[in-house]
Amino acid sequence: MNKAIFLDRDGVINKMLYHDEKGIYSARNLDEFEVLSGVKKGISDLKKIGFKIIVVSNQPGVAFGYIKEHDLEKINQYMKDKLKVDWVYNCVHHPDHTGECSCRKPKPGMLKTAAEEHGLDLKKSFIIGDNLSDIQAGKECNKTIMISKVNCSLCNIMHEKKIKPDFIVKNFSEAVDIIKIGGDLK
Ligand SMILES: [Mg+2]
Repeated sequence: MNKAIFLDRDGVINKMLYHDEKGIYSARNLDEFEVLSGVKKGISDLKKIGFKIIVVSNQPGVAFGYIKEHDLEKINQYMKDKLKVDWVYNCVHHPDHTGECSCRKPKPGMLKTAAEEHGLDLKKSFIIGDNLSDIQAGKECNKTIMISKVNCSLCNIMHEKKIKPDFIVKNFSEAVDIIKIGGDLK
């Protein structure tokens, strides 16, 4: 069976953006999609040690109507072509617009579908995210890694929700180092 690195997209692969009216938001089209430093090399390093790279991304903007499906698909294709991501799974739902679904993180639906479709062993896989919903979705993985500048408000939420990533790192390269050196113990 294959092993995988599940990657959240916004804030992990690409930069979050800021706009006076929109506030903090994520790329809505390829022009806004700016890959963070260390990501391309990190993915390449992870593939060299035998991991499949799978993006699992909530994109509720499609349900809200401010992200077009073809713009999302262009970003997906870019990640496959330029970053050598193997597969991309998007949840394009939002409970307020499209009702409940089984794919929106923190639910593990996208990971389970990917595991079925590509013969992946979740117990040998990792998730890298920047949100507690990523960590929750990946709790059946070998290890969960959160990219974050840790602060006390986050610690409180983690404590309240009883969600704790196995590792907290500052950037993508540090996450890759953990997987290369010590994370892959099982
Ligand atoms: Mg994110």
